[in-house]
Amino acid sequence: MNSIILYTITSLCSISILAGVILYYIAKKFKVVEDPRIDEVNEVLPGVNCGGCGYAGCRNFAEACVKAKDLDTLFCPVGGNKCMNEVAKVLGIEVVEKEAMVAVVRCNGSYQNRPRTSIYDGTTWCKIVHNLYVGETGCSFGCLGLGDCVKSCKFDAISIDEVTGLPVVDEKKCVACGACVKACPRLLIELRLKGKANRRIFVSCSNTEKGGIARKNCVAACIGCGKCVKVCPFGAIEMRENLAYIDYKKCKLCRKCVTECPTKAIHEINFPPKLSNPKLADEIKVKEIKS
Ligand code: SF4
Ligand code: SF4
Repeated sequence: MNSIILYTITSLCSISILAGVILYYIAKKFKVVEDPRIDEVNEVLPGVNCGGCGYAGCRNFAEACVKAKDLDTLFCPVGGNKCMNEVAKVLGIEVVEKEAMVAVVRCNGSYQNRPRTSIYDGTTWCKIVHNLYVGETGCSFGCLGLGDCVKSCKFDAISIDEVTGLPVVDEKKCVACGACVKACPRLLIELRLKGKANRRIFVSCSNTEKGGIARKNCVAACIGCGKCVKVCPFGAIEMRENLAYIDYKKCKLCRKCVTECPTKAIHEINFPPKLSNPKLADEIKVKEIKS
């Protein structure tokens, strides 16, 4: 009886030792040596894991930076140029600075501009309502106001204005991570250049219906009249399915389109009030564009 117990214990010990040796050998043989620069790059990243860089988290982004030949297509919107310079320093390469971006909301269908046609009392998610029906107004393109964009923002940079019912972006807090862009089921939010002196101009409407129908549902809708396209001296505006779109790379912020738009669908941000003397205003504009 004793010899059976002894035999069992000896066998189990031998098997354990053998398994340990095999596992040790396998671990040594197939050990993945991680580039130590991944940790160094990860250290200089903000660590918020927002996904704005296009990767699942900061560490994945650090791995991509280390593997890449250059940083031309890689950018951390939260850390910005300062952070990317740090990353470049760790990797011993050069990086070209990128211009700052910010989220803009392409809908001006406020409570005042868009008449309510029904009252909604259900789930509080835009993405669900978007799949259920047109919304509380006749515009099937406009903001649903339930704040999926607000819920998605990790930087508390977007909120729903109680007076208008529309999202408002706080440009000081927005890091252009793009989470709200992905969250909006109506594709109303766009990342655009923050612009010179933080000034920018964009069409605050996403309705591609014909002018009459768009206007019937919202007095601030783009009606596709094309007046802005004709007046823009820089060819920065094009019509896309009845809807004007301003290319922020071509726009020189002259504001001619803003004045021309009959429905005030084109918004200007952070501009000083217009001067009453149009000749003087034009001279200042030309000077600003040249500088
Ligand atoms: S912008 Fe889009 S996500 Fe935000 S409240 Fe409006 S419909 Fe919802
Ligand atoms: S407003 Fe949008 S882009 Fe800006 S930080 Fe919030 S989620 Fe990101």
